[in-house]
Amino acid sequence: MSAVSAGPASFEVLAKPIPGSATRARRGRLTLPHGVVDTPQFMPVGTNATVKALDPDDLEKANATIVLANTYHLYLRPGHERIARLGGLHGFMAWDRPILTDSGGFQVVSLADSRDIDDEGATFRSHLDGSTHRLTPETSMTIQEALGADVAVAFDHPVYPSSARSVVEDATERTHRWAERSLRAHTRPDQALFGVIQGGLEPDLRERSTRFIAGLPFDGINIGGLAGDETPIQRREALDVVVGLLADDPRPRYLMGLGSPADLLAAVDQGVDLFDSVLPSRVARTGQVWIPGGKLDLRSATLLDDPAPLQADCACLACRRFSRAYVAHLFRARELLAYRLATLHNLTFTLDFMARIREAIANGRFTESLPGLRARAGRSAPGEDATMTSEATGEPA
Ligand SMILES: [Zn+2]
Repeated sequence: MSAVSAGPASFEVLAKPIPGSATRARRGRLTLPHGVVDTPQFMPVGTNATVKALDPDDLEKANATIVLANTYHLYLRPGHERIARLGGLHGFMAWDRPILTDSGGFQVVSLADSRDIDDEGATFRSHLDGSTHRLTPETSMTIQEALGADVAVAFDHPVYPSSARSVVEDATERTHRWAERSLRAHTRPDQALFGVIQGGLEPDLRERSTRFIAGLPFDGINIGGLAGDETPIQRREALDVVVGLLADDPRPRYLMGLGSPADLLAAVDQGVDLFDSVLPSRVARTGQVWIPGGKLDLRSATLLDDPAPLQADCACLACRRFSRAYVAHLFRARELLAYRLATLHNLTFTLDFMARIREAIANGRFTESLPGLRARAGRSAPGEDATMTSEATGEPA
């Protein structure tokens, strides 16, 4: 597989699975205007142009190479034209590494107070003040070009995986028409554009959507409509359809909304390159920190006398400098530092986990390393992978 250079994004597969092997895991390198993203990679979510509780130096120290920002939120507040006047998203949030903006479609469906979707676009009421707005493929491109991320995403119509077939089919066909309109509307030469596959859990719709989106000149392929209310087996089956069809496609594959280490590992094994989720940072703010093999609940009284760091071999500030007892105390006292330290740790853990995955693939030892990586990921708790629902809450700080 050779490198694809299609303007603002080029993707090179550095280590690919041997045909007939049990895994589709691959190691790649995505080069974007603001830097290089080694894949498989996890993108922390900066909903309002900030990863909650962290500053850009914190993100760099956690080894984040790309962050996601939400088009819907930034369009409503502070407004894309204001951000453009202030130097675009990179200047505005003082982050000089790559950024990806989502299409806004997911938040329209999950977050707006009400919505009315027709073939032309989506009319919705802001969850902030009830004001009425309209997003179309064309306006989504205008907003994302003004925000100026390295990667924009075609406007799509997501639905929950468990939706009735007729609902999924309707949204999938609309997503295809909107994909073509997004491509026509997108003009910014220094910004890549990724397209979104839908199709829910229906194998024939997944196949149709994969073929359709892969047939368009996008720079990358997003796999949408998963990381919602499907079971892990349903997700595996849907991914099998998609990645099977994309086997010879040289573009990066991005599964939107997946965030628990166990889920990330399973999807990498199936051949996914990119991920994003609010999960590591959201659960951190509830006092849940991820450690090898499981997690700690910082609200638990048993930690109040524990002088050990959160995780002995972690390089993050929380682990280098403080004890479990201290961070648990901060949570009890609802001190602001608690949220920063826990978020810093969970993102460091997640990004370190992805680095271990990349190393195993690069060394040709991914399959042999799977048991160890699974043990490190631990078991995700019930509800932990319900990222679609949790993101829909608007992620209050
Ligand atoms: Zn740590």
